[in-house]
Amino acid sequence: MKTKIKPTFESAAIHGGKGNKDQYGSHTTPIYQTSTYVFDNVESGAKAFRHEEGGASHVYSRLGNPTVEELERTVCALETYSLNDPEHYQGMAFGSGMAAITTGIISMAKGGHVIAQNDLYGCTSQFLKEEAPGMGISVSFVDTSDIFMVEMDLKKHPETKLVYLESIANPTLKVSDVKAIAQLCESHGALLMVDNTFATPYHIQPLELGADVTVHSSTKYMGGHGTLIGGVMVAKKELFEEAQTFLYRKNLGGIAGPMDAWLTTNGLKTLPLRMKQHNENAMKVAQWLEDHPKVDRVFYPGLKSHPHHKLASSIMKKGFGGMITFELKGGFDAGVSLMNNVKLCSLAVSLGAVDSLIQHPASMTHSIVDEEIKKAAGITDGLVRLSVGIEGVEDIIADLEQAMGNF
Ligand SMILES: *Cc1c(COP(=O)(O)O)cnc(C)c1O
Repeated sequence: MKTKIKPTFESAAIHGGKGNKDQYGSHTTPIYQTSTYVFDNVESGAKAFRHEEGGASHVYSRLGNPTVEELERTVCALETYSLNDPEHYQGMAFGSGMAAITTGIISMAKGGHVIAQNDLYGCTSQFLKEEAPGMGISVSFVDTSDIFMVEMDLKKHPETKLVYLESIANPTLKVSDVKAIAQLCESHGALLMVDNTFATPYHIQPLELGADVTVHSSTKYMGGHGTLIGGVMVAKKELFEEAQTFLYRKNLGGIAGPMDAWLTTNGLKTLPLRMKQHNENAMKVAQWLEDHPKVDRVFYPGLKSHPHHKLASSIMKKGFGGMITFELKGGFDAGVSLMNNVKLCSLAVSLGAVDSLIQHPASMTHSIVDEEIKKAAGITDGLVRLSVGIEGVEDIIADLEQAMGNF
């Protein structure tokens, strides 16, 4: 008997979520743009509602949709790629990264304590600080790139249900030791949820490192073309059942729409190819910036100067992603001048698209934020965030060069 050969990650990105052929033999999964589903008869509908065998497979698109399910299977295949028991896991798609994150946290940490990384994505941080406590979830914040701090806080809060962090975090692209933290969580009976948006499963598979849940803004690298808003989450089926996460998604209502799910599945087919080029381009741009006389510091996990370079190198075998943060010597005015003079790079928030996106937090996203909060978040006046695209790298460098000639 032939032994089954495991497909490569690249093949899993293309075929990992494939469903059955439809009645027309459509090559790609159609966009099932439908709200509801027609039952054959009362029995079939009744069985579907009772989750019994032989019932209709679909009832209503807030509960499930074939196009959305293809995305869920694909993401699950990628996030569990290196595991021996992928069949025990499940993907769940959402209408945004924030819907995935909040539904995940609310269902898994209800009535308990959360230990969160201190420099999370802005909306996640705001949700945990301002909204979660009113829902009966207490939260403490620590620097998760320091294992000792995580351990101290777990001892201080023995009731901790969930530890939440980003595998690579803004703005300094901090890398947390997911494997070591997962071991700590296990010995303290807490779950570990990792936002893997910046890294993508191409670089880091948190579940393989021992995390319990991985969550994404699929708006970014997964979709990859800046065409949608979406979120995904992957965990063991058992955990989703225990936490009733599916019920929460159904009732909070944050499922992905079929069109966005389809765009994401289509984007995922080229994720490995795109990430390869993002890696190559970002490394060259980071090195070029590091040598530039108008640049004070460059944060990129692939540079030896990055404080977590060693850890990043041990986890990220294929490269270091497409995100770079750097600080201009000229401060605020230099940042504004750079933003107003780029031609190829788009002046925009978000990240992970095929085209290069640049933004200056001090004059844009964080312009109304208090000095103290900005300082705590590491947002200095000259800080620039660049999502390096997959254009020809010489064009990206030439654009930055000409735009930096104005200050
Ligand atoms: C963008 C982003 C989010 C939020 O995702 P949306 O799709 O915008 O809701 C969460 N975490 C990280 C790291 C992000 O970059």
